[in-house]
Amino acid sequence: MAFMRGKQQVEEVEKYDIAIWNCDNPDCNAWMRQLYSFEKDPVCPLCQSTMSQEIRLLPVLSHSISP
Ligand SMILES: [Zn+2]
Repeated sequence: MAFMRGKQQVEEVEKYDIAIWNCDNPDCNAWMRQLYSFEKDPVCPLCQSTMSQEIRLLPVLSHSISP
């Protein structure tokens, strides 16, 4: 029995709304998941600017999911 796929298989990555810290400096692209930072008012590790909370749609890494 042939099991054929007409197209290349596309890996679907599940994405979720994840809270992150986003650097306020427009010249800096740094951001980090809030999972890794419990600070209330973190500063950017790259440019030391303040960071704002933001929600982003990100692929979830299976290893980092906690029930
Ligand atoms: Zn920055």
